[in-house]
Formats: sequence, C-alpha cells, structure tokens
Amino acid sequence: MQRVVRTPTNRFASEERGNLVARKWQNWARTASATPLDVVAAVDPQQLAAQVERAAAAGRTIRVIGSGHSFTSTAVANDIMITPGELTRVRAVDAEAGRITVEAGIDLTTLCQVLDSHGLALTNMGDVRVQTLAGALQTGTHGCGRDTGTFADMVVGLELILGDGSIVRVDANNDPDLFNSARVGLGAFGVVTAITLAVEPRFRLHAHEFPASFDETTASFDAWTAAHDHVEFYWFPHTDKCLVKHNDRTYDEAQPPGKFANWWEEDFLSNTVFGAMCRLGRAAPGYIPILNKAAARVLSERDYVNDSWLVFTSPRNVKFKEMEYALPRSSLIPALTRVRKLMDDKNWRISFPVEVRSVPADTSWLSPATQRETGYLAFHAFDRTDHEWFVAVEEVLREYNGRPHWGKMHTRSHDDLAPAYPRWDDAMRVRDRVDPNRVFANDYTRTVLGD
Ligand SMILES: Cc1cc2nc3c(=O)[nH]c(=O)nc-3n(C[C@H](O)[C@H](O)[C@H](O)COP(=O)(O)OP(=O)(O)OC[C@H]3O[C@@H](n4cnc5c(N)ncnc54)[C@H](O)[C@@H]3O)c2cc1C
Repeated sequence: MQRVVRTPTNRFASEERGNLVARKWQNWARTASATPLDVVAAVDPQQLAAQVERAAAAGRTIRVIGSGHSFTSTAVANDIMITPGELTRVRAVDAEAGRITVEAGIDLTTLCQVLDSHGLALTNMGDVRVQTLAGALQTGTHGCGRDTGTFADMVVGLELILGDGSIVRVDANNDPDLFNSARVGLGAFGVVTAITLAVEPRFRLHAHEFPASFDETTASFDAWTAAHDHVEFYWFPHTDKCLVKHNDRTYDEAQPPGKFANWWEEDFLSNTVFGAMCRLGRAAPGYIPILNKAAARVLSERDYVNDSWLVFTSPRNVKFKEMEYALPRSSLIPALTRVRKLMDDKNWRISFPVEVRSVPADTSWLSPATQRETGYLAFHAFDRTDHEWFVAVEEVLREYNGRPHWGKMHTRSHDDLAPAYPRWDDAMRVRDRVDPNRVFANDYTRTVLGD
C-alpha cells in the first residue's frame, strides 16, 4: 500500500470555553465554523469503526471533514470531528483495467499525481483540486462535459462504516441502493473510508479560451457543447461580455502557456488584479459596473495544450461565497437570461462572473444532476460582501425546478427538496437502514434531509 502524506488545508484555532480549550474549525470561505468536543485524526477504517461504535453507544454524533471547501455547513461537526489524518493511502492501481482504489481523505492534487505516475487520469474534474476525494464526492462536485460530468459517475465502489460501526463494501451489484445513496451522501450514509474509481489512460486537453458577446455565447452554447468535450463560460455582470472555454481531448505534445503568460493569466490577472478590483468594488460598489467592463475588455484569446488535470483546474486565491444551482439543461439559457434581467432591474452590484456549465445526467440518487441532463449556474459574492441577492436569484431558479449544489449556499430544506429528486424516498429509506440513530447527523443534514 502506498502511503501519501497530504497537506491539511483545514484551519483550526484554539478557543477557551470555561476550563476547556476547544479547537475551533472554520471552512475555506469563512461561512461555516464548528467547535467540536473531540477532534480525531483518522488512522485506518478499523480505528474509525471502533470510534463510530463508541459514539453510537454513547448517543453522540460524528462528522468527517474533508478540506473545508464547502460553503454550506455540511461538514460542521460540533460533537466528534474526524479529520482525514492518515486515511489518504493508495490501496491498489490496475492500469490495465482502469481502476484505482484510494482511501477517502486523499486530496485531488495527490490523486492526480499518483494517477499520472501510472499513466492514468481522472475523466473529468471541477475548477480546483484542493478538495479531498470523499469531500468532493459527498456534495456532488462536478466539472463540465458533453459525455462526463460529476465525480459520482466515476465511482465504481465504496467502502463505508455504517451507523453500527460495521464496515461494508458496496457497488452497482452489491447493495446498489446504498451505493446509489452514499456516493453523493452528504456524509449522512456513513463514513466513507475507501473509493474505487474508473479512470482512463492519461490524456491532454487542448484549451481554447476566447471572449464573446452574451448573445453570441448563449445562442451558440448548444452547438458548442455538442461539438466540444468540455465547454463552460463566465458572464461578467453589468456587461455584454463572456469568457468562453472549450477543452478538447488530444494526445498532441504539451504546449503549456509560457511561465510568464501563465503567471500573467492565472496568477496576476485572475487572482492579484481580480482580487484588487473586488476590494475596490467592495469599498465603492458604485464602481463595480465600470470595473467589470474594464475586466471584460482585457479578456484575450489563448490556446494551449497540457495534461488534463492541469487544464481542468486552476488556483483560486480570491475568497468568495458561492451559490450554484443545477437546472434541467433546456432551462439553462432561459434561466440565465431571466437572472440577468433581474440583476439589471434590481440594480445590484455584482463583481464576480457567473459561471455556466453543463453535464450529462448521472445515476446517484441525491446528485443534483440525477436522472436529467443538467446545466449549472454559479453565482459568487466577494468575501465579506453582501450575498442577500442570492435568495432572489434562487427564487427564479426554483421556478425551473432547480436543485442546489449541496456544498454551496442555498436556503432549501427537505420538504421542498424531496419533490425535486425522483429517488428521494428510496434514499431516505436507505438512510433509516444504515443510520437509524443518526450518528452521522448535523444541523445541515437535519435541515436538508430531515431528522
Ligand atoms: C474555490 C472553490 C472552488 C470550487 N469548485 C467547484 C467546482 O468546480 N465544482 C463543484 O461542483 N464544486 C466546487 N466547489 C465546491 C467543493 O468541491 C465541494 O464543496 C466539496 O464538497 C468540498 O470538498 P472538501 O474536501 O473540502 O469537503 P468538505 O467541504 O470538508 O466536506 C464536504 C462534505 O463531505 C463530507 N465528508 C468528507 N469526508 C467524508 C468521508 N470520508 N466520509 C463521509 N463524508 C465525508 C463532509 O462531512 C461534508 O458533508 C468549489 C469550492 C471552492 C471553495
């Protein structure tokens, strides 16, 4: 078994509570915090199984955290918090069969490096690679793609600890109901200890990024998504401009952007300058439309070829809050157009671009992309700025039968979520079976899944 040491990204501070010095945890976006009574670093499944058994016997609750990159309080653990600790090992790699089994707490950067060293790669990824694999999976993390989209769809097997402390292995043939519930399970169906993924031979992506008008982009989106492997775009509020990204698979030689060009685009423009503009906009919101127009004006066309995981993901150093909704694919552009009008009518000041992606339907019962071809709209608010406007946007997206990303901000609860998921009741029956005493509950699961 290969041992992988990950760099923890979770932030803890000490807090005095009476005679106790408790550890206070905060997520990346500073939108959720917890003061757990006990913090336990995972060592191996047997240690965790014993921990779950003891917690169940004592009527306590357990939550596992990943890298704290969810914006919601999904990871919050105020009783026993399990950190990924040493649960980051690579158990098996079968390059011929295209399978890798890793422990749940491995971070995505390390996973990509391990795969690369075996001539393999993940089929698809989201925008960043700092999450743990289990954390990404549990909230339905996705990228964009014509043929592939969500992490859940790459999973072919799970090892889990259930509410009674038993360790089980599930897949499409072995307890498929639990497999379908727990892949995107919000940590409520058990502690995930290992994950088997279907992976593929290493490939590169040819990235083509270019500015286009809102009208051209929205009119062409269907044709582009049919013609290219991965398509997404960012619309800059208060402007008519979008930045479009097409990524296509290739085995051509890598032609990465030069060091300076890469620093200029990924670091300086996308993070340093963008961060400075956001701070300026926060201090003087009236200038946001002008700043957005200036940002849209410097968008430029570029082409490069690089290893898939280096193209799928990029650094995000500017802090923000986010809400993302999964919509029926056919409603994506109509919903975006309505939200654009709402933003104009309300005269809000929004500095972050709106991100637009699409994926095929997936099969996990609680995945926001379950059983329907999906378009995603993601809205961002700069750190420590007002995000009240998310609620009004959410109202519009609900009219399109939108489903919120479990890891991103929303105001929904189980009563109104249940009708949006065709297999909701089946998933809740599985939850009652595997965690009848709600050892894995927190306030978030109580709100969105029910008691
Ligand atoms: C900058 C940034 C960019 C992002 N980009 C994207 C994107 O492109 N696409 C997208 O879909 N999302 C994106 N997200 C959201 C992010 O991928 C998800 O919120 C993801 O769940 C975070 O993973 P994590 O490892 O930080 O897990 P956490 O946020 O720490 O935990 C997430 C959930 O997983 C549970 N969990 C963790 N480990 C286990 C385990 N071993 N067993 C059971 N449950 C467990 C936790 O209890 C919690 O419920 C982004 C977030 C940020 C901050």
